[in-house]
Amino acid sequence: MKAVVVTGHKQGYKVQDIPDPKPDKGEVVIRVDKAALCYRDTLQLKGFYPRMRYPVVLGHEVVGTIEQVGDGVTGFKEGDKVISLLYAPDGECEYCKAGEEAYCHHRLGYSEELDGFFAEKAKLKVTSVIKVPQGTSDDGAVLVPCVTGMIYRGLTRAKIKKGETVLVTGASGGVGIHAIQVAKGLGAKVIGVTTSPDKADIVGKYADHVIVGKEFSSEAKKISDVHIVIDTVGTPTLEESLKSLWMGGRIVQIGNVDPAAPFNLKLGYVILKDIELIGHASATKKDAEGALKLTAEGKINPVIAGTVNLEDIDKGYELLKDKSKIGKVLLKP
Ligand SMILES: [Zn+2]
Ligand SMILES: [Zn+2]
Repeated sequence: MKAVVVTGHKQGYKVQDIPDPKPDKGEVVIRVDKAALCYRDTLQLKGFYPRMRYPVVLGHEVVGTIEQVGDGVTGFKEGDKVISLLYAPDGECEYCKAGEEAYCHHRLGYSEELDGFFAEKAKLKVTSVIKVPQGTSDDGAVLVPCVTGMIYRGLTRAKIKKGETVLVTGASGGVGIHAIQVAKGLGAKVIGVTTSPDKADIVGKYADHVIVGKEFSSEAKKISDVHIVIDTVGTPTLEESLKSLWMGGRIVQIGNVDPAAPFNLKLGYVILKDIELIGHASATKKDAEGALKLTAEGKINPVIAGTVNLEDIDKGYELLKDKSKIGKVLLKP
């Protein structure tokens, strides 16, 4: 089968023919219906992910159809439409049993220790597999593991309440445009912040209010007390995010455009405003199921910048970097 393979540390990727995967005990093989490109891929190619072993198939976001079921697998059969978590937990430890499998000591990451999903087929550990409810589009489902499920997790950890105001930074980005929808799906009022005047209109289609510019806190405070900020940008926006929040506010830190850049945190914000800074490992099955439910209910409509095939993966990354485009870039093998 054809696959996008990363051959070594900082070695880039190649489209290669590799053997079809076969399911071992506790595994299934899926036909990849759609995969999604992610900013994380570019960080992986730059060498920021020390757990990667080579060669490895790139890609960590997938929706597919089960073609083969290995020994010892229960609850899944050929023909089931499924997604996968970004990692395979062992399913046995205290964290896994408590539904916090993101904290599993023995988790293995797809496109890290395990082959990823930019291929015609992929092998999944059954501990990472989640059934997609009927009526959910492939485009909606493929966004769950790394986008909508992650946001759902952040907002759940932030204990979001109906009627609260959520501000989303990077609102016209692939994560941001969906963060607005997840927050609204959970009953929030949403302020979308973008630095790009050209994209204010599309943000306004989803958010209740739009702010254009880098200094957004004073305008945000005029609109409402801000209870939660979903910060999809990171170090460039965190200061304004902290300033925007009313007392008792929570920052859900989802993205960070420059992992090497430190942030100079004034602890006064945290202490005097009772602010919580909430990090973001990855979605669990519970989070993914929550996001799938919102998607199946039509509360999250996937925004797709474009779809490429395996051979055109370069074009996909060009689309990902193209600032004039909005939404996720998908791959259809
Ligand atoms: Zn991703
Ligand atoms: Zn575990």
